[in-house]
Amino acid sequence: MHLAKLHAPSQIQLNEHGNLKHFVTIEGLSKDTLNKILDTAETFINDNNQLITSPLLEGRTVMNLFFENSTRTRTTFEAAAKRLSANVLNIDIARSSTAKGETLRDTLWNLQAMAADIFVVRHSSSGAAHFIAKDVCPNVAIINAGDGQHAHPTQAMLDMLTIRRETKKPFEELSIAIIGDIKHSRVARSDVAALQTLGCKDIRVIAPNTLLPYGFSEYAEGVRLFNQMDEGVKDCDVIITLRIQNERIESPALASQLEFHKMYGLNEARLALAKPDCIVMHPGPMNRGVEITSSIADGAQSVILNQVTNGIAVRMAVLALSMNGQLQAQGLLDATSVV
Ligand code: ASP
Repeated sequence: MHLAKLHAPSQIQLNEHGNLKHFVTIEGLSKDTLNKILDTAETFINDNNQLITSPLLEGRTVMNLFFENSTRTRTTFEAAAKRLSANVLNIDIARSSTAKGETLRDTLWNLQAMAADIFVVRHSSSGAAHFIAKDVCPNVAIINAGDGQHAHPTQAMLDMLTIRRETKKPFEELSIAIIGDIKHSRVARSDVAALQTLGCKDIRVIAPNTLLPYGFSEYAEGVRLFNQMDEGVKDCDVIITLRIQNERIESPALASQLEFHKMYGLNEARLALAKPDCIVMHPGPMNRGVEITSSIADGAQSVILNQVTNGIAVRMAVLALSMNGQLQAQGLLDATSVV
């Protein structure tokens, strides 16, 4: 599959005033839009680094539609919606009529008739969120919670928020390496797009050629590729490790997980080659002893659990901003000035 063809045009994601409506992919969004998401997320974290609650989405209904497994993303979307005082419905897809042969479109139109304001959608097919965003009523917003190996825009934004809060440096000054299964990772694709848009000048990808996507040079313009860990992590400010997406790998891309660990696992010796204050990230779920050793995952440089908390703030921001046009039209508060 050629992923460059799946990029949703920015028009579908923005309303007539150029504000975020649907959040399907990072591609096509401006630096200002990404910074607005980050700035809004920051307003939901107080000076003691705690998440706040807000009445902003009182009376709104957020429906979580997860056609694929998830722990962190589904739960943090639910936590985010509840912190904004929205009603939250988690639709049990395995027990829904989709399992009886109903089309995705019919399922959605029925749920829409139950007064949904926002659908948070995860689907195993790349392009599913884009397809749905084109088809829903104008007052309903679609937020992509991961579609196949295409995009995971809220993960990218929580990664950006974590980088911004932890390094306290502008993106332009950072050296950031993403390691592992780039080919099957929607996180890698969305992270690279967000880093490019936010102005990061030193984006590195460290992977064996078997775990790089077709057309890599096209989607990752300006990104440096390394096949060796030592060279790739040297003097980095941020290292993002990734799981091998075994569920999406049809033929063996690796000799074994042990070999992957030997060649590409992040261990103490390799981390020592990065800057002394380099932070280590992982979107989860982690496979300890494969892409990352336990001592690093639980070590002082790990910000993996901060990513989870920041995920709630970012998802609050995206939920609020996607309703912002409607809130303003009703004379309610602007999401960005709530707190
Ligand atoms: N949780 C992330 C995702 O949904 C990363 C992963 O599954 O490896 O894409």
